[in-house]
Amino acid sequence: MTQTTPAEICLARWARSIRTSPLQTMLTKCRPAISFALGLPGPELLPAEQLSVAAAAVLASGPGALQYGPPSEELRHQIVEIMRWRGVECKASEVFLTSGAQQGLSILAKLLIGPRGRVVCEKYVYTGFLQAIEPMMPEVHTIETDAWSGPDIDGLEALLTRVADPGFLYINATGHNPLSLTLGGEARIRLVKLSARALTIVEDDPYGLLQYEGDSAALKSASPSSIIYVGSFSKILSPALRVGWLVAPEHLHTALASIKEGSDINTGTFSQRVACRFIASGGLREHVSKLACAYRRRRDFMLDALARTLPSGSRWTTPSAGIFIWVELPEPYDAVELLDRALSEHGVAFLPGVAFCAKDSAHESARRSLRLNFSHCTEDQIEEGMRRIAVILRDW
Ligand code: PMP
Repeated sequence: MTQTTPAEICLARWARSIRTSPLQTMLTKCRPAISFALGLPGPELLPAEQLSVAAAAVLASGPGALQYGPPSEELRHQIVEIMRWRGVECKASEVFLTSGAQQGLSILAKLLIGPRGRVVCEKYVYTGFLQAIEPMMPEVHTIETDAWSGPDIDGLEALLTRVADPGFLYINATGHNPLSLTLGGEARIRLVKLSARALTIVEDDPYGLLQYEGDSAALKSASPSSIIYVGSFSKILSPALRVGWLVAPEHLHTALASIKEGSDINTGTFSQRVACRFIASGGLREHVSKLACAYRRRRDFMLDALARTLPSGSRWTTPSAGIFIWVELPEPYDAVELLDRALSEHGVAFLPGVAFCAKDSAHESARRSLRLNFSHCTEDQIEEGMRRIAVILRDW
């Protein structure tokens, strides 16, 4: 048996803390000078002025702005239009407002998986999804995937013959977190076909509007009822607003509302109305284009830095959407040890691949993989962060 190294102990703690401690706790605990770790928007790209105008207008509309109240009907109609940008035709009555995509996932886990039910996801998965389903203590069935080929749909079909009635398949088809992949046409067609055969798919799509090449429509665009869509304003407006939405069949809304009420009693109407004002001013489309343009530049800048920095035998993705690059280092590099040293000696953070493994059994390549975020840092910070990582790799 191999000895447990300090880096492994650190990794176990790190991965556990990612999965169990709130984002805020993690942010305050770990303050690296340069962070490629989290999926934060670029701070200077947040539309603070326009949002302050929108917030002032909402407050000026009367005390109702600060009162308990029903979800914003106007915002639900605006989301119908946003869904059209993603190729989806839906009705306002199908839009269910949530406190961020995360709450949407959590409500869906309670509704569709239930206690100790079954759920299917990829081997590499958004850690917040694992947090959302954890209270259900589900049987998690995973399918093979990687950042270059995407999910193994043959494997999924085989799995579905063995696993009866999974609550749903969780998929992040555009700008995958963490693998950064956007699914190609064939995989999409096969998934949609599967969804038509009584498999509910939960499509988590916070990055769908941040596309740099191509224009992939949401999976839901091809299958109106069996795919439940999870959307968010976090990456395209501001994560602090905590406004997200589901597009789900109307017959599920009473149950969704009841579960939501159990967790927050009332909905964040102030934030919803601020988002609504901002959108009504006509600024969202322009803002999203501005973000896509800025993030494309940052992505290219980071790709260029990776080509100069990483040892030969490394490979990395060129994401056409989203805010992450997935890197795989060759042997004998170890992303956890690299993180240890990057954090403690150089003030640089990223997340190691193992943090995203759906089950504790990390795959062989996970230890050599890292997820780098490119939306949060400026070009200067990207340059400096990669220079520091290069120093560690050179002295390995
Ligand atoms: N899904 C994915 C894939 C994400 O990356 C995130 C945020 N990092 C979320 C859901 C949660 O987003 P929100 O801020 O809207 O809760």
